[in-house]
Amino acid sequence: MKMHDVIVIGSGIGGTLFSALNHKKHDLLLFEKDSNLGGCSSTFKRFNNHYNTGATTFVGYEEGHVVKRFFDEIEYTPNLIQTKIGVRIVQKEKEVDRVQDFEAFLEEIEKNYPNENNRYFWTSIKEIDEKFWELKKLYYAKYSWSAYKKSLACVSEILKTYKGQLFISADGFIKKTLGEISPEYQAFIDAQLLITLQTKSKELSLLTMALGLAYTFHKTYYVQGGMGELVEGLLKDVPYKKNEAIVKIQKHNDYYEVHSTKGIYKSKNIVLNSTIYQSAELFEDLEIKKYYNKFKFSDQSAFVVYLKVKSKADFLHHYQIILDKNIPNSISNAFFVSFSDKDDEKLSKDGYSVTISTHTKATIWEGLIKEAYGAKKRETEAYIKEAFLNYFDSIQKEDISRAFSGTAKTFQSYIGRQNCGGEALKIKNLLSVPSCTTPFKGLYNIGDTVFAGQGWAGVALGVDVLNKEFNHG
Ligand SMILES: Cc1cc2nc3c(=O)[nH]c(=O)nc-3n(C[C@H](O)[C@H](O)[C@H](O)COP(=O)(O)OP(=O)(O)OC[C@H]3O[C@@H](n4cnc5c(N)ncnc54)[C@H](O)[C@@H]3O)c2cc1C
Repeated sequence: MKMHDVIVIGSGIGGTLFSALNHKKHDLLLFEKDSNLGGCSSTFKRFNNHYNTGATTFVGYEEGHVVKRFFDEIEYTPNLIQTKIGVRIVQKEKEVDRVQDFEAFLEEIEKNYPNENNRYFWTSIKEIDEKFWELKKLYYAKYSWSAYKKSLACVSEILKTYKGQLFISADGFIKKTLGEISPEYQAFIDAQLLITLQTKSKELSLLTMALGLAYTFHKTYYVQGGMGELVEGLLKDVPYKKNEAIVKIQKHNDYYEVHSTKGIYKSKNIVLNSTIYQSAELFEDLEIKKYYNKFKFSDQSAFVVYLKVKSKADFLHHYQIILDKNIPNSISNAFFVSFSDKDDEKLSKDGYSVTISTHTKATIWEGLIKEAYGAKKRETEAYIKEAFLNYFDSIQKEDISRAFSGTAKTFQSYIGRQNCGGEALKIKNLLSVPSCTTPFKGLYNIGDTVFAGQGWAGVALGVDVLNKEFNHG
């Protein structure tokens, strides 16, 4: 049996970027259990039409950013449309366009959520974010002296850059600068944080809040042909096997034996792109099981509605609609709507392909009999559809030719994860966040449940660290 240098398990953003960066240097093989590549960032086909599974906004493709650096190194130029309005945030009659131009954005904020310190607040958010992406020593890894040394250097650079700001809580900063803000303004802030960081301001530090609120000050892109195109483009020359799940990994002295649904493979190293919470089940080795089981399951997940909408009207690529009340069976009063580009020949065939997502908990969908599960799913889907039609008054009910939805259970059955989004970096968990390295030689993690978190930007930062650990030790 051939001995590989590295087997990568999963073609999410993490597994994909790592593989594309390393397949020429090492004998690498990537496995994906699903028929689509990309995990939460994939595009799938159903009823003869294509839909983005989860991720729809592409951020980080700009000079000086790790995502762009990786794409350049891989020599892959994606087919993108830069969005003029990152997202339109709607709350009853209020509409705020999150545009990259700071003054234009500030004008929108002042109009909708007036506050004498808006300029100071949002300038601080922007500056904190800018400083973060200029950091030179961003690093977080464990279990070796050199890893701890680099992580310490990173902490010291962060301390030097932010000084006292580092110890300010997000809520504290809001209170100090904006004062007691209206519940609407707070909901406007929290809805965005829930999307980018999986949590609200009361749980965050000023630094993480800034990173979560500032993404639209960067260039944001629509991906032609769907998010899955990016992953397929990145993996073009990478050896991979899809529709082949890894079911068991046995640790030997200096290699791992990897059992898939179709065969047995050997590799000196393993990069796991499965979530940190569900990786224990792949191993029999008690120490490895114990290591993975120590991470407390984050049961945050997503509820996603997919629509095919026949309409001649024009839409932005992204909206976030904030409602008065929480959506049933969710943990949010907001949902994020993404329309395919009108001229996208793949996604907009037969009408707009629309992906709508909100936050839920995996536990809400667990342990239900089939009827109860179906009823809950229909209830949430109908509620979101109605609120969608309420806002987009140019779309009539009969314009929706297809509607179906996915829960934590759907994510589990297709891509082997119940939770969506890892544990957000909070003040209290800063040092317990899982790293890409493990205490076991040759075993690595990557993806949004390890440092630095979710989305293209967060996962790419993690890949940057993994790449260095893997190649230089
Ligand atoms: C609804 C939703 C909307 C989002 N919107 C955005 C957005 O607009 N922009 C953005 O940047 N981010 C967005 N995100 C976040 C982003 O999609 C994720 O953070 C990111 O895609 C996760 O990447 P990952 O590397 O952790 O891999 P994952 O997406 O978790 O993929 C892991 C892959 O590994 C495979 N796998 C797992 N176990 C096995 C096994 N045993 N054998 C073989 N294969 C296996 C899975 O099938 C899967 O394909 C969104 C997420 C969700 C859920």
